[in-house]
Amino acid sequence: MSYCVNCGVELEKSARRCPLCGTPVINPVQPPADEPPAYPENIFIPKKTRSRYAAFMVTMVLLIPNLVCAIINLFYPHTGHWAVYVVSSSVLLWIFCVLPVFIKRNAYLLLGVDTAAALLFTFIMSVFHGRDWFLRIALPAILGLAVMLGIMIYWISRKKREWPSVCTAVVGILGLMSMLFEFLISWYVVGRPMIQYSVIIVASCVGLIVFFEFAGRNRRFRAWLTRRFYV
Ligand SMILES: [Zn+2]
Repeated sequence: MSYCVNCGVELEKSARRCPLCGTPVINPVQPPADEPPAYPENIFIPKKTRSRYAAFMVTMVLLIPNLVCAIINLFYPHTGHWAVYVVSSSVLLWIFCVLPVFIKRNAYLLLGVDTAAALLFTFIMSVFHGRDWFLRIALPAILGLAVMLGIMIYWISRKKREWPSVCTAVVGILGLMSMLFEFLISWYVVGRPMIQYSVIIVASCVGLIVFFEFAGRNRRFRAWLTRRFYV
């Protein structure tokens, strides 16, 4: 029986290196047998397992401080309902960032769950603030965004789209959303819907769309961009 000279771990007969610290095994009395090594040289972890492991770690990292906050808040109710903000933000973050690892195949299901979570979160926030902006701003804005994203998922899933077209769609959604936001917020705050500042954002979006459309149609320009920026 051999032991590693560096860390003292017990070694297999076939070991040429210590499995723990990697020190080469030189044993003049017992040269390494010609049998296959007991452990693989490189550990291969499938991508799916890795992302699930990461999801598990993120879940734990989120869970522990949330439980602590909730318990402390339960024991000290006179300090307000501050744990509600912490817990509901964390749940929203988990649904947005970790849940896709588990249901990445079904984009519509993911969009539905994300929309419901965003609606629930803004509803809780508006209730705790005692304001009525949920129905007048959050609900129409989130549903508007969900409809646009749903159309985009359908559009992408029908056939493979080049990156300039996808960028055009994303920038288009940004422009439309900025108009919708200004419309809803001015209606709520001033009392009448206005579209004023978002025109600047829309103008920038139109500029970007012209650029992406040009990149989409001009093969040489796109090849140059690919070489230059690895897109
Ligand atoms: Zn060792």
